Amino acid sequence: MNPLTATAVGKRYRSRWAVRDCTFAVPEGKVVALVGPNGAGKSTLLGMAAGLVRPTTGDLSAFDTPVRGRIHPDVSFLGQDRSLYRDLTVRELTRAVGSMNARWSADRVHEVLGLLVGVDHDAKVGTLSGGTQTQVAIAMALGRLPRLLLLDEPLSDLDPLARDETLRIIMTEVADRGTTVVMSSHLLSDLREVCDHILLIDEGRVQVSGGIEEVLAEHRILVGPAAEESAVDGTLISATRTARQSTLLLRGAEPAPAGWASTEPDLESLVMGYLRASRARRG
Ligand code: ADP
Repeated sequence: MNPLTATAVGKRYRSRWAVRDCTFAVPEGKVVALVGPNGAGKSTLLGMAAGLVRPTTGDLSAFDTPVRGRIHPDVSFLGQDRSLYRDLTVRELTRAVGSMNARWSADRVHEVLGLLVGVDHDAKVGTLSGGTQTQVAIAMALGRLPRLLLLDEPLSDLDPLARDETLRIIMTEVADRGTTVVMSSHLLSDLREVCDHILLIDEGRVQVSGGIEEVLAEHRILVGPAAEESAVDGTLISATRTARQSTLLLRGAEPAPAGWASTEPDLESLVMGYLRASRARRG
């Protein structure tokens, strides 16, 4: 049973598709980096997975149950708007969120907040730093004891220390409870060290989806003479060229022809290659 599956999911706002024909599955226990530039469709996709945004086409399921207008009880979602409940204290917020959830562990919230040095439970949420507000919001999301955690740009606007702490909270949850996590960022570098799965989207479409090791092993970077590109096998994703030399990102692990150097890409160059290709198609 996959925590999340999408089958040909699309969302159209007026004449424009924010998400288009997205099909993927998120396996249990994975930490998934949902990566793509601003406007790629990440928030829309997460909103649909959380039951807040209704798809125009296709279906999403959480734990094999179709998502229809409400969040699955085993799923927690943290959206980008974290300005709710600014006038409540942390203690009041914990009580209020607890009263709204059938399954709730105040102990878990306190445990997570306990990881954060110096959170004053009697401080109003609105007076806390942006980083601490995000961390408090994550603690609330974990109070639902989710099996799938959806986080929309959890690290945006955080200073490096808060970023590190926030990732530590998330990774402790993964280690302690085996929770599946899908978190978005427009920066791969934010998520690189913690994710084992990637879902790269651009222009609302899935460009790459899968385990990082598998995805990398399916690709090659070839460097060789620009005049002999036609000798290269595999599906060309993108290319950068000088007058003499071509650098090609290819899908497929066919051997390189004589005169070409072949290496497996790292994740950064793979993502850049796909985004470059997507830009080129757009003109
Ligand atoms: P991302 O999270 O990757 O930045 P979004 O999902 O927020 O991308 O947006 C994808 C596209 O859909 C963008 O072009 C955005 O302007 C558009 N969009 C998102 N939400 C709405 C909305 N409520 N109404 C109209 N257009 C929207």
